[in-house]
Amino acid sequence: MSVSTAASAQSVCAPLPVLGRDVTVPLVTGGEVTYAALDYAASAPALQRVWDDVAAYAPYYGSVHRGAGYLSQLSTDLFENARRTVAEFLDCRADDQVIFTRSTTDSLNLLARAIPADCQVFVFETEHHASLLPWQDARVTYLNAPRTPQQAVETLERALADRTVSIEGGYGPALVCVTGASNVTGELWPVRELAAAAHAHGARIVLDAAQLAPHHPVSIQDLDVDWVAFSGHKLYAPFGSGVLAGRADWLVAAEPYLAGGGASRKVTRREDGGVAVQWHETAARHEAGSPNVIGAYSIASACKALTEAGFDTLVAREQHLITQVREGLAEVPEVRILSLFGDDAPRVGVISFVVDGWNSSHFAAALSAEYGIGVRDGLFCAHPLVRTLLGSDPQIQGECGAPEAAPGEKSLNAIRVSFGAGT
Ligand code: PLP
Repeated sequence: MSVSTAASAQSVCAPLPVLGRDVTVPLVTGGEVTYAALDYAASAPALQRVWDDVAAYAPYYGSVHRGAGYLSQLSTDLFENARRTVAEFLDCRADDQVIFTRSTTDSLNLLARAIPADCQVFVFETEHHASLLPWQDARVTYLNAPRTPQQAVETLERALADRTVSIEGGYGPALVCVTGASNVTGELWPVRELAAAAHAHGARIVLDAAQLAPHHPVSIQDLDVDWVAFSGHKLYAPFGSGVLAGRADWLVAAEPYLAGGGASRKVTRREDGGVAVQWHETAARHEAGSPNVIGAYSIASACKALTEAGFDTLVAREQHLITQVREGLAEVPEVRILSLFGDDAPRVGVISFVVDGWNSSHFAAALSAEYGIGVRDGLFCAHPLVRTLLGSDPQIQGECGAPEAAPGEKSLNAIRVSFGAGT
């Protein structure tokens, strides 16, 4: 690519307001620039409001559920209030459980451990590895990438209808795992329709809302999904906390995700010398050990901030940014935007592309070093999807990071620009 195309790439991003916190960085070409970190899909900068809330609470925090002391009581209240705030944010049903986890990956692995032994899992190959991989111990059916939302629903319906009938004559339990918004294309998936298809065939559905929740309101009841998982660090809170929310029955019937204090209600010695344990039947069952109270508190703070800002306003601002970036990229002839559902598909602020004649890793490095624009390059932990979109050989041994393409060869990886209107 010529220098002028690189300049066009810069002009694509230059009109954008600098999102997140302003950071001044030196450029290899000399001078310095206010850095634009356009990698919100990986981690969005925590809101100032969240840092302020955490700082205000920091001097007072104590262990939760474990003490009569004032600070312990205060922390327990804040932790449980955080649970209620998240339940409100997700518009949970009255009997849903909200479990604090480390991340979306952790939440989906927790659910994978809690599904009934004979559960059949259905997942599209287009998923992020966090939703694609936790089901390895179950009977999993991987569904081919659909090219329209309607095709996604039809593919799922066909797969569910083709399920094998159990010896008792009915279908065994089934779970569909689907993302709300793709971390590669930003495209929205037809969650409500997929949930309706799942339920019509006696299956349950878990929504990976890691990319959806920071951009759109997520109502468990309106979407009629059984569980939702998301991460704090993509929702303008710091790293280290996540959520799994939804139906209690499978969670209460399952062995605790971790064995230990907090998850156990009563532990006694047995006559045979062992120990007998009664596990909690609340969210605490899967939250053994001292929980990440500040993590839960900061997620709740971010949920409140987004709700108060109003998703209507946030969505409108973000759509404006999406249009600007896409129009800017369209002016660069060498750029090809990756899309599964086509240009008109509704989407969030996640845009992946390749630049003809350029290795994506080199392009991303140049954007950072020469223009102070931070983007992501690679296969975005969604290898099958990116390979489908690039039309590359499925045998290519690409890593999550950055497989190299020789000069002039077809790009084996892509560049991703992502942003949100939360900051
Ligand atoms: N699901 C999607 C759609 C994602 O984009 C990501 C992270 O990029 C994850 C799940 C995993 O999130 P985490 O790394 O916070 O566990």
